[in-house]
Amino acid sequence: MLKLDIQLFAVPFHRVSKTRKKLRRSHNAMEMPGMTKCPNCGEVIKPHRVCTKCGFYKGKEVMETKDAE
Ligand SMILES: [Zn+2]
Repeated sequence: MLKLDIQLFAVPFHRVSKTRKKLRRSHNAMEMPGMTKCPNCGEVIKPHRVCTKCGFYKGKEVMETKDAE
């Protein structure tokens, strides 16, 4: 059992420098979801969804909002 396959083991905590650790985790960050602007009020919204501020979707009001003018 002296023959060790290094790739099978987790990376030892104390052998990895701060820079190496940060470089490895530089790919772990979550990506920002795509965002678009509402054509009616200009609010930043998720694409293909009703605007939560004015309730508009595809140029029509499809939802009533609390602060409707
Ligand atoms: Zn809007």
